[in-house]
Amino acid sequence: MEFNLSNLGAKSEDEKNSHPYKMIVLGSGPAGWSAALYAARAEAHPLVLSGLELGGQAALTHVIENYPGFPEGVGGAQLGELFQKQAERFGATMEFDQASDVDLSQHPFVVKTDSGQELKAESLVIATGASPNHLNIPGETEYTGRGVSYCATCDGWFFKEKKVVVVGGGDSALEEGLFLTRYASSVTIVHRRDSLRAGAILQSRARSNPKISFVWNSVLTDVAGNGVVESVGLKNVVTGEESRLATDGVFIFIGHKPNTQLFQGQLEMDANGYIVTDNRMHTSVPGVFAGGEAADPVFRQVITSAGMRAAAAIEAIK
Ligand code: NAP
Repeated sequence: MEFNLSNLGAKSEDEKNSHPYKMIVLGSGPAGWSAALYAARAEAHPLVLSGLELGGQAALTHVIENYPGFPEGVGGAQLGELFQKQAERFGATMEFDQASDVDLSQHPFVVKTDSGQELKAESLVIATGASPNHLNIPGETEYTGRGVSYCATCDGWFFKEKKVVVVGGGDSALEEGLFLTRYASSVTIVHRRDSLRAGAILQSRARSNPKISFVWNSVLTDVAGNGVVESVGLKNVVTGEESRLATDGVFIFIGHKPNTQLFQGQLEMDANGYIVTDNRMHTSVPGVFAGGEAADPVFRQVITSAGMRAAAAIEAIK
């Protein structure tokens, strides 16, 4: 049986300011949409605030091979669209807007947005995800967008037949490094140790790819160029030896930090800024729920993020 419940949750400008939403979901990655799907099916008419990156980090992933139900893998952006379509079918709505301030000391909670809205919510699901860590070395900020990138899917195309350096030894570095071999003439993976953190399948694919080489026990000391990236400084952390490596691009995949600054001082967090929840996704403020990358320094997978936010929504509905 087909239902068309779209726009059930849409509110006029007056309604938005005077009546609280039953639920506002902050973030539009697969996890945010999972919460919205469960809330929409419980007729909570959730509003999803997209944040700056529609689809979250997953949308920037070329292919996701470990989300069940897609034996051939699925594009990150495509998976995000499917999640959105499914939640919207049951009445979830989305606005291209971002929370700029939240007040969790009063109930309904108050969410101010970049576009100047002041929204009220009876429950809040935090699905704000995480952002890539930076190396914080000279030249990194200056050359971001001019050779330095944190997203191979977004920027790989610019490096056709060019040399690129990838920094990191985790799943992201290898997965994105492998993706870059479609375009680049060579991919040099610089890792600060002599063994990789990435999983076995990615390791064996990367090690057997003729375009990929490794520089072990080394860190970048700077990024240099002349308007665009031309080289990076390298330092061997075992021998102390320093050298320069010519390159056209630098892709940095050294982990992430949670996007939780908005909740500092209002929600309990750990030392790294991850929101502390109980095993039912409740935060330290009743009515506020979190899960996935904003609250999970361990698993950080699409499936675990989606599962946690579904659980958060179920708890919120209760
Ligand atoms: P990660 O697993 O935390 O790996 C970060 C890598 O960067 C590590 O190798 C780390 O070195 C290195 N690193 C950290 N800080 C550094 C610095 N300042 N300078 C140089 N190197 C530095 O992060 P991730 O690869 O983004 O993965 C995050 C999570 O997503 C993981 O749970 C991962 O399994 C998951 N993920 C899964 C897939 C997949 O299953 N296909 C794909 C992407 C991501 P050390 O090893 O020495 O600590």
